[in-house]
Amino acid sequence: MSPELTSVRRIPLARPSIGDRERQLLEQVLSSGVLALGQFARDFEDAVAAVAGRAYGVACSSGTAGLHMAVRALGIADGDEVITTPFSFVASANCLLYERAVPRFVDIEEDSLGLDPDLVEAAAGPRTKGILPVHVFGRPCKIERMEALAAQRGWVLIEDACEALGSRQGDRATGSFGTASVFAFYPNKQITTGEGGVVVTDDAELASTIRSLRNQGRDEDGTWLSHVRLGYNYRLDEMSAAIGVAQLERLDELAAGRARVVRAYEAALGDREWLQLPRHAPDETVDWFVYVVRLDPTIDRGMLMEDLDARGVPARPYFSPIHLQPFYRDLGHKPGDFPVTERVAASTIALPFSAVLSDDDVAYVAAMLIEVVERRSRS
Ligand SMILES: *Cc1c(COP(=O)(O)O)cnc(C)c1O
Repeated sequence: MSPELTSVRRIPLARPSIGDRERQLLEQVLSSGVLALGQFARDFEDAVAAVAGRAYGVACSSGTAGLHMAVRALGIADGDEVITTPFSFVASANCLLYERAVPRFVDIEEDSLGLDPDLVEAAAGPRTKGILPVHVFGRPCKIERMEALAAQRGWVLIEDACEALGSRQGDRATGSFGTASVFAFYPNKQITTGEGGVVVTDDAELASTIRSLRNQGRDEDGTWLSHVRLGYNYRLDEMSAAIGVAQLERLDELAAGRARVVRAYEAALGDREWLQLPRHAPDETVDWFVYVVRLDPTIDRGMLMEDLDARGVPARPYFSPIHLQPFYRDLGHKPGDFPVTERVAASTIALPFSAVLSDDDVAYVAAMLIEVVERRSRS
């Protein structure tokens, strides 16, 4: 490596944008003395429900907690099968295992990288109780087909919208399709609460059950030591909720920042035969959660990541298929089970991405990617 490259900048892979409004509301919480079970969590869950066009929102401590409560509240349990995708973050399958249900993986389709509706139909069996599709990287999966299938077969639809706050399929928001739909607010998501999630639904009774599960199984009025069911402490604290309220107020601004970064990457990377940039269908609006590009399979991704890292550019494989995680292999899954997932997963890398990544940093990342790949192919 040439000496001038040893003092390069380090570009963050992801970075939340925390401003004055977040600090102001956080200060308000701290001064109030109400640090839990307060108004900010109620305001936050209502505001998230509004973004998704849903009647009810239930704030909770993480997206994973939200998925778990959705599974439990919908009565998915011992041996029930739920059809889901292996091309996702591990939480979307783990939430089924928590209730001893069976994640019935089926492969994805190459376009949206979400569940393939034809394979979902083919996988339906007598034990199938539901379907748990994931909107991957912020892009809607074939959710209208999933919704129709669920209605036709009497399945529950748990929509993992943890990566898709603010995206739309036609005129409907992601998060508006599920019997219950779940958003997550870890710091790399479109907006953050630090840790946090919100479950949204139009079903009043379901919302009420999830509120109870979140709060140690108390009934709706939260009576101090009256527990009507086995519950959890999955509450969202007020500091996190206040940050979330401020972030949601800034959703359009942050989405505009991400759109700017997407345009900057497109301009800088252009058309290259070894590279496929994120894309979406004309009837979709996508607020990207991450910027994942696909490389020609002949490119050695491991070497590429090392070379980029040496230039201060972190890039990560994304996702690593769930069924190939050591713990899932122990459940009987193996390489070759889901060829599209495995092929896609072997060729994707997430590039640095956030609403606050500067045009200059994007140009730098793009230049380094092109240099590393094109230099290697010449040598
Ligand atoms: C982020 C994410 C979750 C939930 O993550 P938490 O860290 O628990 O908030 C669930 N599913 C997917 C696909 C995710 O990307």
